[in-house]
Amino acid sequence: MVDVAHTRALFDLPAGVTYLNGNSLGPLPKAAAARAKTVLQNEWGTELIRGWNTAGWMALPDKVGDRIARLIGAPEGSVSVGDTLSLKVTQALSAAVKMTPNRRVILSDNGNFPTDLYMAQGLAETLGQGHKIETPNPEQVLDRISEDVAVLMLTEVDYRTGRRHNLPKLAEKARAHGVPIVWDLAHSAGAFPVDLAGADFAVGCTYKFLNGGPGAPAFIYVRPGLADTITPLFSGWLGHAAPFAFETSYRPDAGTGRMRIGTPPVLALSVLDTALDIWDGVDLSALEARSHELSERFIARVEAAQSSLSLASPRKAKKRGAQVSFRFKHGYPAMQALIAQGVIGDFRAPDIMRFGITPLYQTEDDIDRAADTLAEIVRTRAWDKPEFHARKAVT
Ligand SMILES: *Cc1c(COP(=O)(O)O)cnc(C)c1O
Repeated sequence: MVDVAHTRALFDLPAGVTYLNGNSLGPLPKAAAARAKTVLQNEWGTELIRGWNTAGWMALPDKVGDRIARLIGAPEGSVSVGDTLSLKVTQALSAAVKMTPNRRVILSDNGNFPTDLYMAQGLAETLGQGHKIETPNPEQVLDRISEDVAVLMLTEVDYRTGRRHNLPKLAEKARAHGVPIVWDLAHSAGAFPVDLAGADFAVGCTYKFLNGGPGAPAFIYVRPGLADTITPLFSGWLGHAAPFAFETSYRPDAGTGRMRIGTPPVLALSVLDTALDIWDGVDLSALEARSHELSERFIARVEAAQSSLSLASPRKAKKRGAQVSFRFKHGYPAMQALIAQGVIGDFRAPDIMRFGITPLYQTEDDIDRAADTLAEIVRTRAWDKPEFHARKAVT
């Protein structure tokens, strides 16, 4: 069971707001402000440079990594935190293609988040070895796995529709054909119990379901045993075995530690560390079960009240991540109208209205209010006002 009365009280949710966008940016944990103040005043302000030793700043990437490892079913010492997800994807991908020097296909799908594909394109160009990125429809990926695939790189949950891949099944075939595996868990970590399914690499965000705050650093998992064999693409000094020996040549640290690049973002890591306290004692299977209940309730209520929106997410709860998406021709202004009424979701072009399901702080009342307000806006065409049509930079 998820004790929502307990976990909801750990967040600073603004009055009058119903939040269904924790899949994009998790809300502020109450304890974050005190932690940030401590880091600023008692650590940075008082300790100055001594803080790297006295306040444990240098240990944060691995310490926070171990806390995330527990949430994604990874062993201690196999996860490191820092940098953006775009960079972590590139680190994983570059290491993976080195494992298969005679293959040239980077296999992903056309539902993957664009930055993952863009980074793959940039890497292929930089390598200059003729790697090609293939992006079939998600349902066709399994059939495409074969001996010419250099790496399989997939995001488990589709950011637009919430469709969830069957990772264990894909992994089984990939392994049978010697294909290294990179999973992007951006919409998985903190949404349900993750099955790494023998992945070689896994990466993900901490500002979505893990509530680390805007721009919070990403994580990377490397399979134990494999990590020691990797020559990192970004051979930064903090991934060196002895950064303060200041040697002129790069020598990678043991294990996943070599995936650190430069100076850790101490403020962001500290706030993330505090945000992760919320997960202590949370049963991820119970969280997933609750997320299914809330999403079924939302879908049923939206569909019962109007017929202009069509469900873009898989109808079976087990085939979705913790999000529900509807297609609506006027999705952008409708979302703006919804936000104006205090119900926050977001929009992904061309016509997807997205709603994140986050049982740590959502109640049935939140779900009902969101569904009812949405249905009312669609029914009354309240979205059809000039101010709701103006496109903002972030949708
Ligand atoms: C959110 C998300 C990203 C974002 O990458 P950043 O480098 O953190 O901006 C990348 N990939 C996927 C699959 C995502 O869902």
